This record gives sequence, structure tokens and C-alpha cells, in this order.
Amino acid sequence: MPRNLPTGLFQLLPAGRYRASPEELRRYGSDETEDLNFPPDIAVLPETADEVSRVLAFCNEHRIPVTPRGAGTGLSGGALPVQGGVCLSLEKMNRIVEIDRENLFAVVEPGVITQTLQDAVEAVGLFYPPDPASKSACMIGGNIAHNAGGPRALKYGVTKDYVYGLEAVLPTGEVIRTGGKLLKNVAGYNLTQFLVGSEGTLAVVTQATLKLLPLPTVHRTLLAPFDSVAAAARTVAKIFQRGVTPCALEFMERAAVAAAEERKGRKFPGGDSPALLLIELDGMHEAPLDADAESVCAVCLEEGASDLLVAETREKRESVWDLRRSIGEAVKKISPYREIDCVVPRARLPELMDAIRETTARHALSAISYGHAGDGNIHVNILKRDADPARWKTALPAATRELFERVIALGGTITGEHGVGYLHRESLALAIGEANVEILRRLKRQFDPNGILNPGKIWVKALP
Ligand SMILES: Cc1cc2nc3c(=O)[nH]c(=O)nc-3n(C[C@H](O)[C@H](O)[C@H](O)COP(=O)(O)OP(=O)(O)OC[C@H]3O[C@@H](n4cnc5c(N)ncnc54)[C@H](O)[C@@H]3O)c2cc1C
Repeated sequence: MPRNLPTGLFQLLPAGRYRASPEELRRYGSDETEDLNFPPDIAVLPETADEVSRVLAFCNEHRIPVTPRGAGTGLSGGALPVQGGVCLSLEKMNRIVEIDRENLFAVVEPGVITQTLQDAVEAVGLFYPPDPASKSACMIGGNIAHNAGGPRALKYGVTKDYVYGLEAVLPTGEVIRTGGKLLKNVAGYNLTQFLVGSEGTLAVVTQATLKLLPLPTVHRTLLAPFDSVAAAARTVAKIFQRGVTPCALEFMERAAVAAAEERKGRKFPGGDSPALLLIELDGMHEAPLDADAESVCAVCLEEGASDLLVAETREKRESVWDLRRSIGEAVKKISPYREIDCVVPRARLPELMDAIRETTARHALSAISYGHAGDGNIHVNILKRDADPARWKTALPAATRELFERVIALGGTITGEHGVGYLHRESLALAIGEANVEILRRLKRQFDPNGILNPGKIWVKALP
């Protein structure tokens, strides 16, 4: 039996639902955030809301830290059990309870993999748009906790725009239900939206009611190579000014493309240029989409694109997106890194790209940038490469802080979709101000008076 845990914890669920071997604890002690590892004392795998409730009530009574976990693909350390205790893995709560084709809603458990939900609804002509690049692995519960985005957030919005109801278990063990299959609902404060993006610190989501849309049937996927990062960044806002809203508008600099090409063993069309925009349009009808595609091509060429490449078949389109989605993993394989998920108002993207270049140069660090340019959301991967460990240790926080300050000065913030988690907890006050941090802390205390749920995240000081 793991040290320091009361025996009663092991009588709450059937014996097969506990994981305690060193290898398993090591796995449950890490996510996709750098090389951080904080093994829990035990991992517990409930199958129902009632089981989640029993575990939380027990841990609350015994003051045992509990860290909820989805697939562990997070990039801000949100699922790391930094104070040990219980890892509450939702992986076994993976049922699609209902796809309601009359009202266009799905009801799902938190351990459903995002891609699995998308495939299931697409099979009946419906569409669940939120598409984090990790969608083949990450889970709906994790998406809700981080309010995940993805390329299609540009036209369709992020996870919060689809969450209409929740079942959740409070740290005390109380089960609450919010919202439902209602497109309008102003009865009381919006608890549903308060829980979305709360990073597993307020409640454990055990079921979600998600809005669905009709599935778009027509797509146009374009690749625009540019001779400079500046020209590509400048073009982004111009596309919208021409009256077109693509469903995705992604930016990749050459080094990001090269990393993906090496990982996948194939070339990205137009990928040898210093910067590439991947632009996708979708809809239900060919003619308006073709008119929009022509406008996009015209803007890109006016702004200096050296070519316009079209992925004409479904296979080519999927191949381009597969390469794009592999960039995150590919870049992380190069060297130890720190990923910064900064976001600015879209029209300030050229200034953001300057800030990234200038900041990393000043600290003699190298970075690879790519991301959801249409949202003004760029992932900056600062790479250690062959930097001396002592210099890396001081230069990295200095560069991170400076970049955050410049992003905030541009009207932006420190994370667009990856969350504050463990990694950026010291920078939250910089982003939202001490007064707002204090309000969040007071709200947290209402939900979790003993501070057992996902402690050590979002802010620095422990709850009194
Ligand atoms: C290659 C790669 C690409 C990525 N691309 C994107 C992207 O395009 N857009 C994007 O937004 N993110 C992206 N991410 C980040 C990550 O995939 C998302 O944050 C995702 O939402 C995390 O889901 P998860 O199931 O892995 O959650 P985990 O990492 O397991 O947990 C994340 C947070 O959610 C909490 N949590 C998990 N389940 C629950 C629950 N049921 N109730 C309450 N809290 C819970 C955890 O405590 C933790 O704080 C990417 C990651 C990788 C590795």
C-alpha cells in the first residue's frame, strides 16, 4: 500500500481501479509539459459520478490532494500531481451517452477522446468543431478544463462555445448539474461557463452536454508561401478586412515546417519558404466558397505570397493537416524547450513576431514559432539546443518574462489555450492583476474550502 494514505481510500472502489506500481505512478505523474514529473501516491480510476463523489468526499475529509486527469496531453502542467496524493484519472468514463439529432446536442462523459466524438457525430452528418491538434489523444474533460481551442476556433469558437450543460462533482463530494440542452438560459449566474477553463481546480466534470452543428460539406485548403515572416503576419488581418472568415488560418515558420517534414518523412508543399500560411475555408455550397477562395488568393498575392497552392483532394487536404498537427510533437523532439502560448489582437501579429525575434535574440536563445495566426495565437517554442545549462536556467525565465511583458503591452495575454496550470502560475498576476487574482482565490475557496482539488496550480500562494 502506498505510504501515508488511509486504508479507507482503498475500500471506495473495486480493487482493480487503483494503480500503484512505480512505472504507472511515473506515467500518471507527467503530461506533455517539458520533462516535468510529479508522481502521485496513487492513481484512482472511477467509472461513475458516484465513484468520483466518494473519492472526493473521502479525500476532502482526510485533506488528501486530488489532481483530475484526462489524457495527459496538457502543455502547462495542469494534470501534474505537484503535491502528490491522488491522481483521479477519468479515462474509464468514456461513453458517448447520446447524440441528439433533433436538438443537435451530444451528451458525453469526460474520458471520450475528442476525435472519437468528432467521428461519431460526423457519421450522422453533424459537426463538433473544437479541434485541438492533439485531438486524436486528448479528452473532452481536459478540453473543457482548459477551454481548448484549435485551428477551427477561428470561425467556430473554442470549447466554451459548445458547452451548454455540465454534471460535476465538487471537492466536498457534492454532485451538481448546470445548464442543459437549452440555447437560451439566464437563470442565475452562468455556472457552466464558470467551470469551463477552471483547469480542474473547482470541480471534476463527469458529464457534458455539447452543442453540435450541421457538418460543412465543402472545403477549400490553400497554402501561401511568403518570403518573410513579416509579410505572412501582415497578410493575416488583411484577409479578414476583405470580408472573408476562413475556418482556419495557421502560420508556420520554416523551422517548424522542417521539423514536421523530418518527423513525417515527407515534404510540405511550399514548405521551403521562410513562412507559410495554411488557410482553410468551409461551407455548404461551392460557389460562395470559390469566391472567398479567390479573394484570399488575391490578398495573399498582393501582400507578397510567392505562390498559392491548393490541396485539391480530401487526401491532400488531410495530408497537409497531418503535417501541420505533427509540428508540436516534432519541435519538442529537437531539444528541451519551453512553450509559450501567447495571444494578441490579430492586427498586432506583425509586432508580436518582432517581439519574439527581438526577445529571443537579446537572451541568445533560439525559438521556433507556429500556430493559430487568425486568432493572434502563436506557440513560441524556446529551445535549449546546446545552451550551457546554467545560462539556460537564467536566460529562459528572463526571456519568458520579457516576452510576456511585451505581449501584454500589445494588448495580449500569456495563454490563449494551454492554460496557466503549473508552468505559468507565477505570471498570472502580470496578466490579470493582483486584484483579479484575489477574486479568483476567493471563488476557489467557496468551491474548495480545504484546497484539496488540483493544488499548486494557477496562482502561486497556497490557500490559507
Ligand atoms: C501535440 C499537441 C498539440 C496540442 N494542440 C492543442 C491545440 O491545438 N489547442 C489546444 O487548446 N490545446 C492543444 N494542446 C494541449 C492539450 O492537448 C489540451 O490542453 C487538451 O485540452 C488537454 O486535454 P487532456 O485530456 O490531455 O487533459 P489533461 O492534460 O489530462 O488535463 C488538463 C487539465 O484538465 C484537468 N482535467 C482533466 N479532466 C478533467 C475533468 N474531467 N474535470 C475537471 N478537470 C479535468 C486537469 O486537472 C488539468 O488541469 C496540444 C497538446 C499537444 C501535446
